[in-house]
Amino acid sequence: MNSGTATGTGEFHALPVAAVAERLGVDPRRGLSAAEAGTRLSRFGANTVSVPAGPGPLRRFLVQFHNPLIYVLLLAGVVTWVFGGHVDAGVIGGVVLLNAVVGFVQESRAQRALDALSTMVPVTATVVRDGVPRRIPAAELVPGDVVELAAGDRVPADVRLAEVHLAEIDESALTGESVPVVKSVDPVAAAAPVADRAGSAYSGTLVTRGQARGLVIATGGATQLGDIQHLVATAEAVTTPLTRKLARFSRQLSFVIVAVSAGAFVLGVVRGTPAPEVFTAVVALAVGAIPEGLPAAVAIVLAIGVVRMSRRGAIVRHLPAVETLGGTTVICTDKTGTLTRNRMTVTTLAAAGELVPVAGAELRECLVAGVLCNDAELDEGDPTEIALLGSAIEAGLDPAALRAAAPRTETVPFESETRMMTTVHGSVGYLKGAVEEVAARCVTEVLPGGGERPLDREALDRLHRTLTAQGLRVLAFARLAPEPVLLGLQAMQDPPRPEAITAIEACRSAGVDVKMITGDHAGTAVAVAGAVGLADSPRVLTGAELAELPPAEFDDAVAGTQVFARVSPGQKLELVQALQRRGHVVAMTGDGVNDAPALRRADIGVAMGAGGTDAARQAADMVLTGDDFASIEAAVRVGRGVFDNLRKFIAWTLPANIGEGMVVLVAILFGATLPIVPVQILWINMTTAVFLGLTMAFEPTSPGVMRRPPRPPSRPLFTAALLRRVVLVSLLLVVAAFGAYRLQLGLGEPVAEARTTAINVFVGVQAAYLLSCRSLDRPVLRAWPGRSRMFALGIGLTAGLQLLLTYVPVMNSWFHTAPVGAGSWLWVLGAAVAAFAVVEADKLLWSRFTGGAAGEDRPRPGPPRAASRRTGGMRVLRGTGSRSFRR
Ligand code: ATP
Repeated sequence: MNSGTATGTGEFHALPVAAVAERLGVDPRRGLSAAEAGTRLSRFGANTVSVPAGPGPLRRFLVQFHNPLIYVLLLAGVVTWVFGGHVDAGVIGGVVLLNAVVGFVQESRAQRALDALSTMVPVTATVVRDGVPRRIPAAELVPGDVVELAAGDRVPADVRLAEVHLAEIDESALTGESVPVVKSVDPVAAAAPVADRAGSAYSGTLVTRGQARGLVIATGGATQLGDIQHLVATAEAVTTPLTRKLARFSRQLSFVIVAVSAGAFVLGVVRGTPAPEVFTAVVALAVGAIPEGLPAAVAIVLAIGVVRMSRRGAIVRHLPAVETLGGTTVICTDKTGTLTRNRMTVTTLAAAGELVPVAGAELRECLVAGVLCNDAELDEGDPTEIALLGSAIEAGLDPAALRAAAPRTETVPFESETRMMTTVHGSVGYLKGAVEEVAARCVTEVLPGGGERPLDREALDRLHRTLTAQGLRVLAFARLAPEPVLLGLQAMQDPPRPEAITAIEACRSAGVDVKMITGDHAGTAVAVAGAVGLADSPRVLTGAELAELPPAEFDDAVAGTQVFARVSPGQKLELVQALQRRGHVVAMTGDGVNDAPALRRADIGVAMGAGGTDAARQAADMVLTGDDFASIEAAVRVGRGVFDNLRKFIAWTLPANIGEGMVVLVAILFGATLPIVPVQILWINMTTAVFLGLTMAFEPTSPGVMRRPPRPPSRPLFTAALLRRVVLVSLLLVVAAFGAYRLQLGLGEPVAEARTTAINVFVGVQAAYLLSCRSLDRPVLRAWPGRSRMFALGIGLTAGLQLLLTYVPVMNSWFHTAPVGAGSWLWVLGAAVAAFAVVEADKLLWSRFTGGAAGEDRPRPGPPRAASRRTGGMRVLRGTGSRSFRR
């Protein structure tokens, strides 16, 4: 496992780098050889910190019995046994056991689904081996490895730093110190505490700025982080606000049911029924009526949603996100990589107000600057920078030779805030970045044919606008010494993702507003917004304009704008907050370190799995494996489907529970003989909850989910319409069971046969209602969600079980049932059909009354839709949407 410590790690922070390298047996420039790394890996083990295991299976199984209801049931079993009902007592015992098994299996399943997902988020590290930098899984690091770190990375192991460029590291995970620490390569005193060891970086901490390179001194459990394993042992429990709400609801309902049961018990005894008999009946009432399995079932429905989302490229890191996703009203998305492919190609060069072909090499120095002021290799690195290598090659230059001829002596790395990068190569320096930034620092510009002239800012502006209007990302290049001179522009194309276009279309029809937030130029942003169908003539706000908005107008302006350009990561947080103040449920994408606060604050923080930083992934609720916008749309779709399935499950299960309880209650209240006796109630409860109820978790997402507006965040799970349905079906069940029983007795059937018919009728009605629940609000035959294997399987198994219960002698003696004739089954069929018809008629009637679909899925006024077609113009700013200044 993880004992990866090299000898004497204790003092590494106090030694000069050369001494550390010698002790670790590594050349700090070439790194370890692949063979040596392999040997060390088997010696030191994987670079993982093991998470302490949760409670073992036995314990988790026993916990299932820790439930007041089960205690009561067991007590009932004992009482029944004492009074001679050995078979009944056995059945009660069996039910208790079955309940525990089902609960155990359900929980394990949900937990497994989540565990599997948490390991899917890849954690990689850049390591130099055999002199070549490469990305490998962080788990494969060994002591002595040379790793490269850059802003946004999580430090993958404990590292002695050998080279730093303005590196700062957030060590709060380890030291609690929230201010990032400036790093150096110098040794510190041997006694220095971790927080003061400037020359080292520790596993689990975050690089917030700059770059660094260092030697791995400890891995896995031997790291400082390993020492405090409890930090990572925060395994998340399978609860969400929704499951907690439901658990509370179940508890409240339980109190009511226990009170009713106690009353029924007293009444029954007063009426002269023998106490043990009433007691068992009352216990059956309680067990039947209390929806014990609800929270667990909800967790399963959510977990299945998680699995479905992962198939669409969206990995949910926190279970509650599944719920939230379904209610998303706004998606704020990046441009590059999410809406576009992030495959850039330089299509045009320009200088001194003129366009210049790439292949002509007229702007040689501009191309050279693009190669030198560049961290990418042809096959690895920032796609923007890769494109710059491409243009140089197209013009006949050799990047490797250029770089060898002018080695870099200093670097100021690119940051989203500055939008620039500078490199120095001996006596010459190059600057590249956003056109505005670079131009602001230049006084002269080169001419394509040679020579220089004073910078013509107007011509530059015109040129810049022409290029960005084509959706091109434009970078400017300058030589820094002796006087900064503008070398030219390179404009690159990044084609939109076709799947993003479809996904945006789907979002718009689903009433989900899509906003683009980009660091790129407004012109480029608008052109791309048009190309992906985000808005035809979107409103645009730039970061600078945002900063100047009066606070009173801020929220409205943000809500009415579709494209935000030249936005700094810090402003993303303000955007999220503004939208949330307007009652929106906000999904926000981000990839950089500085996006973390916005991702945390958003209702759904979305990070990029492929292109993003560890910092962003850590702060996010969801990670997109393919960085693709379509995955967000798919997740919203699945989230809506999950919420539908939850409502279906609840709508199905509550009447079943209440009906079971009421059958017993009514019999006790009216002193009638029970149409269904306690053990039979337990049987129905256990079999239908599992084989019928859970099929709802597997219902496919209805194709219509993205054609209706988002659910208002404030809408409760139990709407009036849902409660009405629950009451109706509960009554149907009671009437059906009593009716069947009485009718059979009236026809001269013995009690056991009559009860068997009543049970089958009860289950038949439940199955018919399950069918009806496949669409809660519309007649199900019209809104048939398609074939469902689970559904067919559930109904089939339930029918099989009822046949066993009816015809197998052992079951007959255990459950007091008896074989019945064909006529009895006709009753079952008739009752099922009748109940189905009543519920369907109810749906129709209510949609007449309410003019919509039973008041559930009616379109709503909701947050204002993007006013995309209302106002044209790129920079319509202030005074937008004055219609809603009523905060
Ligand atoms: P998006 O939101 O669409 O993903 P972004 O936020 O990633 O875009 P940034 O990468 O922050 O945009 O880039 C903002 C601006 O900085 C770009 O328009 C470009 O002018 C400049 N820029 C981008 N990459 C580099 C780089 N590697 N070196 C120098 N300047 C760059």
